[in-house]
Amino acid sequence: MNHHDLLLIGAGHAHLGVLRRWALIERPPGRIALLSPDPQTWCSGMLPGLLAGRFPAADCQVELAPLCRAAKVELIQGNVQALSAAEQQVLLEDGRRLGASWLSLNVGAGSVCPPQSGEGMQVLAVKPFATFLQGWRAWQADPQPLAILGGGPAGVELALAIAGQVPQVTLFCAGPLLDGHPAGLRMRALGHLRQRRVQVREHCPVDRIDGDCLVSADEPVWRTARLLLATGSQALPWLAESGLSCDSEGFVLVAPTLQSHSHGHLFAVGDCASLPGVQRSMAYAQRQAPVLAANLSAVLRGAPLRSYRPHRQRLALLATGDGGALLGWRDWSAGGQFYGRWKDYLDRSFVQRHSLSG
Ligand SMILES: Cc1cc2nc3c(=O)[nH]c(=O)nc-3n(C[C@H](O)[C@H](O)[C@H](O)COP(=O)(O)OP(=O)(O)OC[C@H]3O[C@@H](n4cnc5c(N)ncnc54)[C@H](O)[C@@H]3O)c2cc1C
Repeated sequence: MNHHDLLLIGAGHAHLGVLRRWALIERPPGRIALLSPDPQTWCSGMLPGLLAGRFPAADCQVELAPLCRAAKVELIQGNVQALSAAEQQVLLEDGRRLGASWLSLNVGAGSVCPPQSGEGMQVLAVKPFATFLQGWRAWQADPQPLAILGGGPAGVELALAIAGQVPQVTLFCAGPLLDGHPAGLRMRALGHLRQRRVQVREHCPVDRIDGDCLVSADEPVWRTARLLLATGSQALPWLAESGLSCDSEGFVLVAPTLQSHSHGHLFAVGDCASLPGVQRSMAYAQRQAPVLAANLSAVLRGAPLRSYRPHRQRLALLATGDGGALLGWRDWSAGGQFYGRWKDYLDRSFVQRHSLSG
């Protein structure tokens, strides 16, 4: 078995920030590796622009090999199938085993899919992005009406990005559209969706998929052959099976130092972790990077750890598929091309900052 001092599992937003810091400032001592299923990782904020045809795929990705070279970190390509927290080991899908004295998880989350019976429905989850894009390209070759599950920011952005590319898009929301966001933002989003002829079905939780039918409260609500999942985050199943202490939804419980409650030699950040006051978004994952980098360096050097304090996120920026964006901040909302240029700038800067040449 291959043993490392530190194994970074998943090329999520926080691990990219850690590698960048170590490349530009100082890398801690020891044998360190990054494990990722793919040689690139995606900036999720740019996916709607990619689908709308505004960005080429290469502009939305960070190449991992140069970043790892610059940080003097080994890049291992592979997909975790199982983790044993007690043995500090991962089993990869291809049968390899990797062990490490310290582990850090930044593996994101999946999409929730209602129980499905019968064969009539093709279901495509928005994550992992690489698999989603492959499936989406196949669907694009033969456009058909489709439904999207998920009335949060990702569902709205996706609906606006693909409206016009398929004959009909219907967006299903379990509650109101953009629940928890300012009323003005919701009204603006509804206006854009109406303009792009997206049908919005609010307060319509889809409980199951029966053949080619979406069923809500035992009533068939839509018949379609294609369903896109942009539902809330679902924890990857192997986390709860790893022996780590997890919350009721299967996300890894962490302390403010970002260490697992149950296994102090394991850190978890971003969407796969559970910490009060932290939302599942790119912005939170990115802001955990400085503390994670400091704490991983500290454990390798035997130094004291820092605490991460979540910021109060109030800003939402939603791409409208036409180069513009909607902004929600506290109770205030706005929209237009200016905000779209701002969002593009933030997302492009993220990719550029991490596209180091090693
Ligand atoms: C369409 C869409 C648009 C979005 N837009 C925004 C936005 O504008 N702003 C925002 O803040 N949030 C946005 N989000 C939410 C955002 O995608 C997530 O909250 C964010 O990506 C979480 O980052 P992360 O670092 O936890 O994980 P991720 O960025 O999801 O990265 C996880 C990494 O782990 C790897 N991985 C997964 N499974 C394994 C495994 N078994 N073994 C090894 N590696 C694995 C993946 O390949 C990936 O590299 C959007 C989401 C979607 C779906």
